[in-house]
Amino acid sequence: MIEKTRYIPDGKKERKNQPVIHYLEAEYLYFPTTDLRCPAGESCVVDGQYVKVGELIGTRQGGFFEQPIHSTVSGYIVGSEKKVHSSGQTVDCVIVQNDKKYVLYENCVSRTEEEIDALTKEDYIKIIKDSGLSGLGGSGFPTYIKLETKHPIHTVVGNGVECEPHLISDYKLILERANRIVEGLTYAMRATGAKKGIIAVKKKYPELYEVLENARQSFTHFDIEIKRVGNHYPAGWELDTIKSATGIKVPQGKLPAEYGVTVFNVATLYGFYRAVKRRMPITERFFSISGDGIKSPKNFQVRIGTPVRDLIALAGGYTETDKNKVLICGGPMMGNALQSDDIVVTKTATSLIILDEEVIPTEPCIHCASCVYSCPVDLQPVQIMNAYKERDKDAINALGVNKCIECGLCSFTCPSKIHLTETMRQAKRFIKK
Ligand code: SF4
Ligand code: SF4
Repeated sequence: MIEKTRYIPDGKKERKNQPVIHYLEAEYLYFPTTDLRCPAGESCVVDGQYVKVGELIGTRQGGFFEQPIHSTVSGYIVGSEKKVHSSGQTVDCVIVQNDKKYVLYENCVSRTEEEIDALTKEDYIKIIKDSGLSGLGGSGFPTYIKLETKHPIHTVVGNGVECEPHLISDYKLILERANRIVEGLTYAMRATGAKKGIIAVKKKYPELYEVLENARQSFTHFDIEIKRVGNHYPAGWELDTIKSATGIKVPQGKLPAEYGVTVFNVATLYGFYRAVKRRMPITERFFSISGDGIKSPKNFQVRIGTPVRDLIALAGGYTETDKNKVLICGGPMMGNALQSDDIVVTKTATSLIILDEEVIPTEPCIHCASCVYSCPVDLQPVQIMNAYKERDKDAINALGVNKCIECGLCSFTCPSKIHLTETMRQAKRFIKK
């Protein structure tokens, strides 16, 4: 019987001790007015206007929500330009010429403890909405919508598991901002009315447990627990994290809120701290560039809106080889393949992986069932692939392709190197038509 593949090398061991370069020198910063979730958007500034750090410059509009856009530097608006979004889409961007003075917008002043104590649930929703906070682990889902739930919430789970290989953003953020993450959790608990807060981190990183546990000591008037969860993949998948952190099994297709739980990535909890305590949107994030296609992989702390080409240059540029490069934004298992490196760091962009293209021939399926055993949601990827080849919508539906979380494990385990995950995506799109 084939072993279920649950553990994959996460690549952090080699990279976690690398220093973080704090890069503030970008000449121009680019702010998308639309993105994958928001097909419409507009700016509220004019060319030549001076803007400050944290100042509103536009709004993105989704189907049932909107998200403000803030400048992350001070400087002048100098028009707009099309860029490739980290999702792979080409989008319009407002350009700010950085004066490198980092002048703070006047409204961004800290709230006092008394002011925070007086906040109502409605106040929290407005504060989080105005800050533009969204799922910073990569989902990009607007955080205020989660807060608007009518379901009673008893537990807020902070997700610091970051199980995708090579990603190091949350790891570095926890090490550097543990106190603020825990404080952010207390605000998320107040905003939802939850009595319990849990932050989940991988067992194999005791240093993360330690800094969070130390930070927790400053907030003992809240019921907060730091929990060590499994090292397997995908331990950071929301439903898996909830199960490991709380013991509650939320069935796929149900909202965690229906079970009294809500989950925020640790970077989003840090965003709570910024929005509630400091009246600030997220202006910076950790971003890494790695892979065998770049000369000197690096970890960065950068302003959102920074062109990634600046960072590629700081990482020594591409390796000199005549091989084509493969660019992946996000992790290697679930990230988006990009056609161009002309992208900017967005709130949800965690990493760029640059690989030398290797053409690995695909072999015929040997019916080993590795993909079936390894699928965390109990699908049969090989059967779905066969049904998709036949263009058999009924069979694809019956095989439950929509439960696929696109975790990449089936492709990873396939000895024939069949691109199963991509086929799952195509099959999902096909049955929607
Ligand atoms: S990508 Fe989808 S089908 Fe493949 S293992 Fe993950 S959940 Fe299962
Ligand atoms: S698709 Fe790949 S992993 Fe799945 S049964 Fe065939 S050879 Fe095995």
